[in-house]
Amino acid sequence: MEIIEIIEKTRKAVAKAKAAGKKIGLVPTMGALHEGHFSLIKAAKKQTDFVVVSIFVNPAQFGPGEDIDKYPRPFDADVKACKKLGVNVVFAPTVEQMYPVRDNKSSKSDLKSTMAESKVVVSNGMYPEKNLTWINVEKLSEPLCGKSRPGHFRGVATVCAKLFNIIRPDFAFFGQKDAQQAIIVQRMVADLNMPLKIVVCPTVREKDGLAMSSRNKYLNAKERKDAVLLYAALQEAELFIKAGVRKSSELKKEMEKILKISKQIKVDYISIVDAQTLNEIKEVKGQVLIALAVKLGAARLIDNIMLDVE
Ligand code: AMP
Repeated sequence: MEIIEIIEKTRKAVAKAKAAGKKIGLVPTMGALHEGHFSLIKAAKKQTDFVVVSIFVNPAQFGPGEDIDKYPRPFDADVKACKKLGVNVVFAPTVEQMYPVRDNKSSKSDLKSTMAESKVVVSNGMYPEKNLTWINVEKLSEPLCGKSRPGHFRGVATVCAKLFNIIRPDFAFFGQKDAQQAIIVQRMVADLNMPLKIVVCPTVREKDGLAMSSRNKYLNAKERKDAVLLYAALQEAELFIKAGVRKSSELKKEMEKILKISKQIKVDYISIVDAQTLNEIKEVKGQVLIALAVKLGAARLIDNIMLDVE
């Protein structure tokens, strides 16, 4: 397994594998890998011949006051896990690699090499802010997490586009855990005719139902206990739907009741939306996404279920 920080080196390693006829799989992550990430890597190993895992805590998707500084970065353990799973390349770029400050005053020949990314001008500036090109997947980026994290999905879509351009994978693997992210990336790929397939893998949960997340590390023992209520609330909604309830308002009330069991849980949103458009629906019908986000201690946690309702 190679660990590569430099974009051009990564491109070369992938080009070599492609020349040998291998299908390339990409698993984009921010590191602090857990069983959720491992499931994506395992799917990539099954469906492709050469697996690249990117580890990059992307500053462009964190808002002011969010947890970028304390986001866990257990790099050595991540590398070890990737090796064990048979990953071919860990692409772990620096922020300077991904968001270089490009010198627009360069001569023509310098610009050419800038395009080849061999001579990007790097400074200690505010890197993502120097990026001039952003991808905004309209409408889908606005509801749910987009409301309380403005700019988040712009950062996500842009870094994914960058990663897709660098690695040129045939398949990229995402988790259902971040349903809105997966829907946005799928739409970007379709709208911009990007030549790859997005594979969405099921949410991996702890035994008690809590969706695995790198941010679960922020929970203390009491909060960790209360965190089971997120999935319990989603399951309650599913139970009520199975019993014939179709009104979103009624379902949301039942979910709120479950979450209120904890005094520490502060609900950001409970949403019942059409799984394609992410528009709120009054009655559940067809492919429905039930999603929620809460603050619990220092953590912001999200979870969701996708249902096909008759
Ligand atoms: P992150 O490192 O949090 O940016 O996540 C990287 C990828 O792993 C994203 O596609 C996530 O949706 C996916 N992921 C995170 N947690 C889980 C989980 N519990 N089950 C499945 N996929 C997950």
